[in-house]
Amino acid sequence: MLPALTGISPEKLAAWFKESGEPAFRADQILEWVWKKKVTSIDAMTNLPAALREKLKESFRLSALEHSTTQGSADTTRKFLFRLHDGRYVESVLIPANPALYGEKSDRRTLCVSSQVGCAYGCKFCASGLAGFTRNLDAAEIAGQVLAAEQLSGERVDSLVFMGMGEPLANLEHLLAAIALITGPKTLHLGARHLTISTSGLVPQIKQLAEHPQQIRLAISLHGATDEVRQQIMPVNKKWPVAELFESLNYWNSKKTQKLTLEYILINGINDSLEQAAILSRHARRLGAKVNLIPYNTVEGLEWKRPPNAHCRAFQEVLKQAGVTANLRLEKGHDIDAACGQLRLKQETSEGIIPAPAKR
Ligand code: SF4
Repeated sequence: MLPALTGISPEKLAAWFKESGEPAFRADQILEWVWKKKVTSIDAMTNLPAALREKLKESFRLSALEHSTTQGSADTTRKFLFRLHDGRYVESVLIPANPALYGEKSDRRTLCVSSQVGCAYGCKFCASGLAGFTRNLDAAEIAGQVLAAEQLSGERVDSLVFMGMGEPLANLEHLLAAIALITGPKTLHLGARHLTISTSGLVPQIKQLAEHPQQIRLAISLHGATDEVRQQIMPVNKKWPVAELFESLNYWNSKKTQKLTLEYILINGINDSLEQAAILSRHARRLGAKVNLIPYNTVEGLEWKRPPNAHCRAFQEVLKQAGVTANLRLEKGHDIDAACGQLRLKQETSEGIIPAPAKR
């Protein structure tokens, strides 16, 4: 399989040109065609000599992603499904700005990006974990999602959340290579502070990422304020319990200036007691973190339910009373399987690539 141009760093492309005996400025022209003009074929790079275009085609693919389908929802959230070279699928979700946070007229767009095919972490509320882990995505497959979403929508993506399929910190090497392409001045050039990595709580990698020089934001999928509640729904908590996780977050705070975010999916009768809210508010205050409360999105094959709206508001109120910034998100894309991994799961089960998930 030829490497994709969307995964090659400017330095590596320059080195390839040098080795091939081509002038160095051609590398910059190609970067311009790929990342700024967003062409969909090497033949469209019209200022390159035809012989060079042929040579390029012998050594590279343009993209690692083949667009499969787009689902749109009433609130203009769009979900893109991409086919990979090995027949597997990943998805990205383009989400319009939340008017409650950014004002009715905001046209900001956030893209939710996948980092792996499947996921090994098995959070019990999550479609991505249902079929287990297959493989890491490479840099072209991760950064290519942003480029493809901009090509398909014709819109600029303003911010990214690595919150789609997979545990991004379990694929740190490729993730950082993709981030270099997403933020690089010759490539996509999106500011690092507009990137949020969401993790289920991989302690060693949180500490490693804290040393990374860019001001990337971190969000923790917490979903339980105590070990007892959290490990019912997040097996990762057995390996890195709440106290160890918070110790790594203190370390993060000692290295970074951006506020941490604690993500908390509210699941009826599982983690939504007001006692959990009180403990969560103490954690958040100690860390200076804000909290995103997300009423659970029903996942086919799973039995969890979202709590009544009044109860979600009561949970939020406990946090607010403690002085914690707590957003209660009416989740976008509720009607298009927006919980991570659901579209890909449907596609792969319908094609018989993976068996239909059993209930648990
Ligand atoms: S929530 Fe994230 S870490 Fe957990 S199973 Fe889903 S994709 Fe994996």
